[in-house]
Amino acid sequence: MSFSYPTRLAGVALALALAPAAHGAAPAYSNPAWTQPQAPFRIVGNIYYVGSKGLAAYLIATPNGHILIDGTVAENAPMIEANITRLGFRLHDVKILLSGHAHHDHAGALAQLKRDTGARLLASPGDVWALEHGRPRGDNAANQTPWPAVKVDRPLKDGEVIRLGPVALTTLFTPGHTPGGASWTLPVTVDGETREVIFLCSLTVAGNALVGNKAYPAIAADYRKSFARLAKVKAAIVLPEHPELTDVLGRHEREAKGDKHAWADSGRLSHLLTRAKAEYDRALGIPPNPSANDGTVDGVAPIR
Ligand code: ZN
Repeated sequence: MSFSYPTRLAGVALALALAPAAHGAAPAYSNPAWTQPQAPFRIVGNIYYVGSKGLAAYLIATPNGHILIDGTVAENAPMIEANITRLGFRLHDVKILLSGHAHHDHAGALAQLKRDTGARLLASPGDVWALEHGRPRGDNAANQTPWPAVKVDRPLKDGEVIRLGPVALTTLFTPGHTPGGASWTLPVTVDGETREVIFLCSLTVAGNALVGNKAYPAIAADYRKSFARLAKVKAAIVLPEHPELTDVLGRHEREAKGDKHAWADSGRLSHLLTRAKAEYDRALGIPPNPSANDGTVDGVAPIR
């Protein structure tokens, strides 16, 4: 509408001005892998990796169009688009964009990806405000980096099944890390066997205030609920927003070298949950559970 359009444009312009990529120079992220190119590859079934070396974006391809989960940081948009076309897919066939959670390292490129693909953006209601303002909502000492704001076309419902062609993704709200954190499960058939894949939202505390968080009072309870929900998911393949958490790139390399079992790892989700719960308990001052692991996963640095 002509009335609201200038306001929207002004908001986008402001967000762009605040975004680290605004002046062309690559910002110095704590993890340089976030902006390092990664050749795209097929993971399993119709699921492809199209992200950077350090930040995941997953494409689910169907004959009726494609679904893209996450955008990574703003300046990676051309890289992700190039990865999609390098796989032989057309940008305009991306019909649905999904946001795992509204932080700059995952939602940053969504605005440009939406413009360039024409796809509709769906997100959990809890993150709509943050996505449309290009900044996090809630008390968080560590993650206040803004990103280009993006309009959400429709809020998702918890449990909603997103259908496109033969694909049916089930939405699982997993808030805590942000108020609108979401994960999705998708059954895929591999060698005649059906395996459950989960696209897993970040679960770390990562600077969030768990007590006295005025903008997000339910934060601590939400983390607990999300841990409990995810504990019931039986996923054989875990695809996280930060790929090193389940060694997504390493598994691809192992598969390329002939390892037929590189992707299946049915214990990985519960391992990640144990680690995330231990970090959450530490942040709340709850004594560690001696039976829990020590908070490291294969020597990988903490996630955001
Ligand atoms: Zn995050």
